[in-house]
Amino acid sequence: MLYSVKMRSSRGGRRGAGGRHISGAERIVPEEAVEETAAAMLRRARTHERGRADFIQIRVEEVRDGDIRTCPLLPVSTRAAETAAEGRAAARDELIRAGVSPQAADAGLAALAALTDSMRGAMVLDSRTGCRLDGLGDRGVRCTNMDAADSADYDRKMAARGLGGDHPREALVLASKVAAAPGTVAELCWSDDPQYVTGYVGSPRFGYRRIPVLKEKGDPVGGRIFFAAPGTDMGAYIHYMQEETVLVEAKP
Ligand code: AMP
Repeated sequence: MLYSVKMRSSRGGRRGAGGRHISGAERIVPEEAVEETAAAMLRRARTHERGRADFIQIRVEEVRDGDIRTCPLLPVSTRAAETAAEGRAAARDELIRAGVSPQAADAGLAALAALTDSMRGAMVLDSRTGCRLDGLGDRGVRCTNMDAADSADYDRKMAARGLGGDHPREALVLASKVAAAPGTVAELCWSDDPQYVTGYVGSPRFGYRRIPVLKEKGDPVGGRIFFAAPGTDMGAYIHYMQEETVLVEAKP
Protein backbone atom coordinates (compact mmCIF):
# COMPACT_ATOMS: atom_id res chain seq x y z
CA MET A 1 0.00 0.00 0.00
CA LEU A 2 1.22 3.50 -0.86
CA TYR A 3 0.52 6.73 1.00
CA SER A 4 0.35 10.28 -0.21
CA VAL A 5 2.11 12.66 2.22
CA LYS A 6 1.51 16.35 1.59
CA MET A 7 2.69 19.47 3.37
CA ARG A 8 1.73 23.09 2.90
CA SER A 9 2.76 26.07 4.97
CA SER A 10 1.80 29.71 5.05
CA ARG A 11 2.08 32.87 7.10
CA GLY A 12 -0.39 35.56 8.06
CA GLY A 13 -3.64 33.70 7.40
CA ARG A 14 -6.17 32.24 9.82
CA ARG A 15 -5.95 28.49 10.36
CA GLY A 16 -4.30 28.10 6.96
CA ALA A 17 -6.85 30.11 5.01
CA GLY A 18 -5.51 33.19 3.26
CA GLY A 19 -2.07 34.48 4.17
CA ARG A 20 1.07 34.07 2.14
CA HIS A 21 2.09 30.69 0.82
CA ILE A 22 5.53 29.72 2.15
CA SER A 23 6.18 26.21 0.94
CA GLY A 24 4.66 22.92 -0.10
CA ALA A 25 5.82 19.38 -0.75
CA GLU A 26 4.38 16.01 -1.56
CA ARG A 27 5.55 12.44 -1.82
CA ILE A 28 3.95 9.07 -2.48
CA VAL A 29 5.71 6.53 -0.29
CA PRO A 30 5.33 3.04 1.18
CA GLU A 31 3.91 2.76 4.69
CA GLU A 32 7.29 2.36 6.38
CA ALA A 33 8.53 5.69 4.96
CA VAL A 34 5.54 7.80 6.04
CA GLU A 35 7.01 8.98 9.36
CA GLU A 36 10.42 10.00 8.12
CA THR A 37 8.86 11.70 5.09
CA ALA A 38 6.51 13.75 7.27
CA ALA A 39 9.36 14.71 9.62
CA ALA A 40 11.55 15.87 6.72
CA MET A 41 8.70 18.00 5.38
CA LEU A 42 8.14 19.60 8.77
CA ARG A 43 11.82 20.48 8.98
CA ARG A 44 11.74 21.98 5.54
CA ALA A 45 8.62 24.05 6.24
CA ARG A 46 10.21 25.58 9.33
CA THR A 47 13.40 26.68 7.63
CA HIS A 48 12.22 28.06 4.33
CA GLU A 49 13.88 31.00 2.55
CA ARG A 50 10.51 32.68 2.03
CA GLY A 51 10.04 33.20 5.76
CA ARG A 52 8.86 31.50 8.92
CA ALA A 53 5.53 29.72 8.53
CA ASP A 54 2.90 30.23 11.22
CA PHE A 55 0.74 27.45 9.78
CA ILE A 56 1.98 24.04 8.69
CA GLN A 57 -0.35 21.27 7.58
CA ILE A 58 0.72 17.70 6.90
CA ARG A 59 -1.77 15.28 5.40
CA VAL A 60 -1.34 11.54 5.05
CA GLU A 61 -3.72 9.57 2.85
CA GLU A 62 -3.90 6.05 1.49
CA VAL A 63 -3.63 5.72 -2.29
CA ARG A 64 -5.57 2.84 -3.81
CA ASP A 65 -3.56 0.69 -6.23
CA GLY A 66 -6.20 0.94 -8.96
CA ASP A 67 -5.92 4.74 -8.96
CA ILE A 68 -2.24 4.83 -9.92
CA ARG A 69 -0.95 5.50 -13.43
CA THR A 70 2.62 5.80 -14.63
CA CYS A 71 4.41 8.06 -17.09
CA PRO A 72 8.04 8.25 -18.26
CA LEU A 73 10.57 10.58 -16.68
CA LEU A 74 11.46 13.35 -19.14
CA PRO A 75 15.02 13.32 -20.45
CA VAL A 76 17.04 16.25 -19.02
CA SER A 77 19.34 18.55 -20.97
CA THR A 78 20.70 22.03 -20.36
CA ARG A 79 20.39 25.10 -22.51
CA ALA A 80 23.16 27.58 -21.73
CA ALA A 81 22.36 31.05 -20.37
CA GLU A 82 24.42 33.37 -18.17
CA THR A 83 21.98 36.16 -17.34
CA ALA A 84 18.23 36.32 -16.71
CA ALA A 85 17.74 38.17 -20.00
CA GLU A 86 19.63 35.48 -21.90
CA GLY A 87 17.68 32.81 -20.05
CA ARG A 88 14.33 34.30 -20.98
CA ALA A 89 15.35 34.61 -24.62
CA ALA A 90 16.40 30.96 -24.50
CA ALA A 91 13.09 30.00 -22.88
CA ARG A 92 11.17 31.79 -25.64
CA ASP A 93 13.15 29.92 -28.25
CA GLU A 94 12.61 26.56 -26.50
CA LEU A 95 8.87 27.18 -26.22
CA ILE A 96 8.60 27.95 -29.92
CA ARG A 97 10.68 24.89 -30.83
CA ALA A 98 8.29 22.79 -28.72
CA GLY A 99 5.27 24.02 -30.69
CA VAL A 100 4.09 27.16 -28.85
CA SER A 101 3.38 30.14 -31.12
CA PRO A 102 5.66 33.20 -30.74
CA GLN A 103 2.63 35.19 -29.62
CA ALA A 104 1.74 32.68 -26.89
CA ALA A 105 5.39 32.36 -25.77
CA ASP A 106 5.60 36.15 -25.38
CA ALA A 107 2.26 36.22 -23.53
CA GLY A 108 3.51 33.53 -21.11
CA LEU A 109 6.83 35.21 -20.41
CA ALA A 110 5.08 38.56 -19.90
CA ALA A 111 2.48 36.99 -17.57
CA LEU A 112 5.19 35.50 -15.34
CA ALA A 113 7.29 38.66 -15.39
CA ALA A 114 4.23 40.70 -14.35
CA LEU A 115 3.49 38.68 -11.20
CA THR A 116 4.04 40.64 -7.99
CA ASP A 117 3.53 37.63 -5.72
CA SER A 118 3.71 33.93 -6.46
CA MET A 119 0.60 31.98 -7.30
CA ARG A 120 0.01 28.56 -5.75
CA GLY A 121 -0.50 26.92 -9.12
CA ALA A 122 0.08 27.43 -12.82
CA MET A 123 -1.70 29.48 -15.46
CA VAL A 124 -2.89 27.44 -18.44
CA LEU A 125 -2.49 29.33 -21.71
CA ASP A 126 -3.63 28.38 -25.20
CA SER A 127 -0.44 27.45 -27.05
CA ARG A 128 -1.57 29.29 -30.18
CA THR A 129 -3.31 32.44 -28.94
CA GLY A 130 -1.69 32.85 -25.51
CA CYS A 131 -5.15 33.36 -23.94
CA ARG A 132 -5.69 32.11 -20.40
CA LEU A 133 -7.80 28.93 -20.39
CA ASP A 134 -8.10 27.68 -16.81
CA GLY A 135 -10.25 30.45 -15.34
CA LEU A 136 -8.76 29.82 -11.90
CA GLY A 137 -7.50 33.34 -11.28
CA ASP A 138 -4.75 33.94 -8.74
CA ARG A 139 -4.69 30.32 -7.65
CA GLY A 140 -4.16 28.63 -11.01
CA VAL A 141 -4.00 24.87 -11.57
CA ARG A 142 -2.13 22.75 -9.03
CA CYS A 143 -0.44 19.69 -10.42
CA THR A 144 -0.40 17.25 -7.52
CA ASN A 145 -0.47 13.55 -6.69
CA MET A 146 2.79 12.51 -8.27
CA ASP A 147 6.19 11.14 -7.29
CA ALA A 148 9.02 9.03 -8.64
CA ALA A 149 7.93 5.40 -8.94
CA ASP A 150 11.11 4.17 -7.27
CA SER A 151 12.53 6.97 -5.13
CA ALA A 152 15.82 5.38 -4.11
CA ASP A 153 16.61 4.46 -7.70
CA TYR A 154 15.56 7.90 -8.89
CA ASP A 155 17.75 9.72 -6.32
CA ARG A 156 20.73 7.57 -7.23
CA LYS A 157 20.41 8.23 -10.96
CA MET A 158 19.85 11.95 -10.55
CA ALA A 159 22.68 12.44 -8.05
CA ALA A 160 25.03 10.66 -10.46
CA ARG A 161 24.11 13.27 -13.09
CA GLY A 162 24.54 16.25 -10.74
CA LEU A 163 20.77 16.71 -10.44
CA GLY A 164 20.29 15.72 -6.82
CA GLY A 165 18.30 17.73 -4.24
CA ASP A 166 14.68 18.65 -3.60
CA HIS A 167 14.29 21.36 -6.22
CA PRO A 168 15.37 19.43 -9.32
CA ARG A 169 13.56 16.36 -8.06
CA GLU A 170 10.22 18.04 -7.57
CA ALA A 171 10.46 20.08 -10.73
CA LEU A 172 11.37 17.10 -12.89
CA VAL A 173 8.67 14.84 -11.46
CA LEU A 174 6.08 17.58 -11.90
CA ALA A 175 7.27 18.41 -15.43
CA SER A 176 7.06 14.72 -16.38
CA LYS A 177 3.45 14.48 -15.20
CA VAL A 178 2.58 17.75 -16.94
CA ALA A 179 4.20 16.72 -20.24
CA ALA A 180 2.27 13.42 -20.17
CA ALA A 181 -1.10 15.22 -19.94
CA PRO A 182 -3.21 14.94 -23.10
CA GLY A 183 -3.06 18.47 -24.55
CA THR A 184 0.22 19.74 -23.08
CA VAL A 185 2.48 21.39 -25.66
CA ALA A 186 5.03 22.85 -23.23
CA GLU A 187 5.61 24.19 -19.74
CA LEU A 188 7.60 27.19 -18.52
CA CYS A 189 8.76 27.55 -14.91
CA TRP A 190 10.96 29.51 -12.63
CA SER A 191 11.05 29.15 -8.87
CA ASP A 192 9.77 31.25 -5.94
CA ASP A 193 12.91 30.50 -3.99
CA PRO A 194 14.93 33.75 -3.97
CA GLN A 195 18.24 31.87 -4.22
CA TYR A 196 17.19 29.39 -6.90
CA VAL A 197 17.43 31.14 -10.26
CA THR A 198 17.33 28.04 -12.46
CA GLY A 199 14.16 27.29 -14.41
CA TYR A 200 13.10 25.16 -17.34
CA VAL A 201 10.98 24.59 -20.37
CA GLY A 202 9.43 21.13 -20.41
CA SER A 203 7.73 19.49 -23.37
CA PRO A 204 6.76 16.06 -24.67
CA ARG A 205 8.97 16.70 -27.72
CA PHE A 206 12.24 17.86 -26.19
CA GLY A 207 11.97 16.80 -22.56
CA TYR A 208 13.18 18.91 -19.67
CA ARG A 209 15.33 21.77 -20.94
CA ARG A 210 17.02 23.19 -17.88
CA ILE A 211 17.92 26.89 -18.11
CA PRO A 212 20.51 27.90 -15.48
CA VAL A 213 19.33 31.52 -15.04
CA LEU A 214 15.76 32.68 -15.57
CA LYS A 215 15.46 35.37 -12.92
CA GLU A 216 17.60 37.70 -10.81
CA LYS A 217 19.01 36.38 -7.54
CA GLY A 218 16.95 37.55 -4.55
CA ASP A 219 13.66 37.70 -6.48
CA PRO A 220 11.02 35.85 -4.40
CA VAL A 221 8.44 35.59 -7.17
CA GLY A 222 8.23 32.52 -9.37
CA GLY A 223 5.60 31.05 -11.60
CA ARG A 224 4.51 28.36 -13.99
CA ILE A 225 2.66 28.26 -17.27
CA PHE A 226 1.19 25.17 -18.90
CA PHE A 227 0.69 25.72 -22.63
CA ALA A 228 -2.18 23.56 -23.88
CA ALA A 229 -3.12 22.81 -27.48
CA PRO A 230 -6.15 24.66 -28.86
CA GLY A 231 -9.31 22.65 -28.23
CA THR A 232 -7.98 20.87 -25.12
CA ASP A 233 -10.83 19.85 -22.81
CA MET A 234 -10.04 22.08 -19.79
CA GLY A 235 -12.23 20.11 -17.39
CA ALA A 236 -10.35 16.88 -18.16
CA TYR A 237 -7.00 18.69 -18.20
CA ILE A 238 -7.50 20.23 -14.76
CA HIS A 239 -8.82 16.94 -13.39
CA TYR A 240 -5.70 15.12 -14.62
CA MET A 241 -3.42 17.73 -13.04
CA GLN A 242 -5.18 18.00 -9.70
CA GLU A 243 -6.67 14.57 -9.08
CA GLU A 244 -4.95 11.75 -10.95
CA THR A 245 -2.10 9.93 -9.23
CA VAL A 246 0.91 9.50 -11.50
CA LEU A 247 4.18 7.74 -10.69
CA VAL A 248 7.11 8.76 -12.85
CA GLU A 249 9.32 5.96 -14.10
CA ALA A 250 13.01 6.48 -14.87
CA LYS A 251 14.45 4.38 -17.70
CA PRO A 252 16.62 1.48 -16.53
P1 AMP B 1 8.56 26.40 -7.17
O1 AMP B 1 9.35 25.84 -8.30
O2 AMP B 1 8.04 25.39 -6.22
O3 AMP B 1 9.28 27.51 -6.49
O4 AMP B 1 7.28 27.02 -7.83
C1 AMP B 1 7.32 28.06 -8.78
C2 AMP B 1 5.91 28.43 -9.15
O5 AMP B 1 5.29 27.35 -9.81
C3 AMP B 1 5.00 28.78 -7.99
O6 AMP B 1 5.04 30.16 -7.74
C4 AMP B 1 3.64 28.41 -8.50
O7 AMP B 1 3.07 29.45 -9.25
C5 AMP B 1 3.94 27.26 -9.43
N1 AMP B 1 3.74 25.95 -8.81
C6 AMP B 1 4.38 25.44 -7.73
N2 AMP B 1 3.96 24.20 -7.46
C7 AMP B 1 3.03 23.91 -8.41
C8 AMP B 1 2.22 22.78 -8.67
N3 AMP B 1 2.28 21.70 -7.90
N4 AMP B 1 1.38 22.84 -9.72
C9 AMP B 1 1.32 23.93 -10.50
N5 AMP B 1 2.06 25.02 -10.31
C10 AMP B 1 2.90 25.03 -9.27
